[in-house]
Amino acid sequence: MDDRQRDLLALADAARGFMPRDEGLALHQHAGGVDAPGPFLEVGSYCGKSSVYLGAAAEAQGRLLFALDHHRGSEENQPGWEWHEPDLVDPATGRIDTLPHFRRTIGEAGLDDTVVALLGDSPRVAAAWATPLALLFIDGGHGEEPAHLDYEGWVPHLAVGGTLLIHDVFPDPADGGRPPYEIWCRAVGSGAFAEVDAVGSLRVLRRTAPGC
Ligand code: SAH
Ligand code: MG
Repeated sequence: MDDRQRDLLALADAARGFMPRDEGLALHQHAGGVDAPGPFLEVGSYCGKSSVYLGAAAEAQGRLLFALDHHRGSEENQPGWEWHEPDLVDPATGRIDTLPHFRRTIGEAGLDDTVVALLGDSPRVAAAWATPLALLFIDGGHGEEPAHLDYEGWVPHLAVGGTLLIHDVFPDPADGGRPPYEIWCRAVGSGAFAEVDAVGSLRVLRRTAPGC
């Protein structure tokens, strides 16, 4: 690994967000070994932490990372929920706005030419998408509907040979919510994916056939 990659990983480690270090390093490692052509796409960027782990690998391979988020926070990020961070509320609107934090993180990393922000609602963007993806990282809304819509909207765009990563997969309900685990089960049960790795709540799969 060269100095630039080491610097980017140190920045990602220090960045604000919901990605434990060992899982972030696994993201970077698996993104570095992707075998299919095309760009990467992540659903759920928040303040840009996972975007730097993935963006570092994308830069090293001369690929783009599309970082998709409406930057208004998931249900679980809203006031009164477990994952709410009050300082992310924009006083002018009273709504969460992680976009300035995301933009600062990507700018400080010098990844502006590699990480392309997509600002909008995931299923709407997915419905208009046409480019085959080499890597898809799903870490958006973790409720029943958003997680399954992300699966149905984005997984068809992942190329054969491409890598699917899903975050916050908890087989034991005592450890966390079900929907990310349910979509991981859908992928495994589809017969179109091979299981590659599991680090903490991160699951890594490789597409071996079309479909989902
Ligand atoms: N990967 C991030 C954490 C993502 S948190 C990290 O490394 O820290 C989940 C994100 O998904 C939130 O920022 C939220 O705004 C976004 N999100 C939830 N539902 C969405 C939707 N329907 N469209 C776009 N983004 C969504
Ligand atoms: Mg997550």
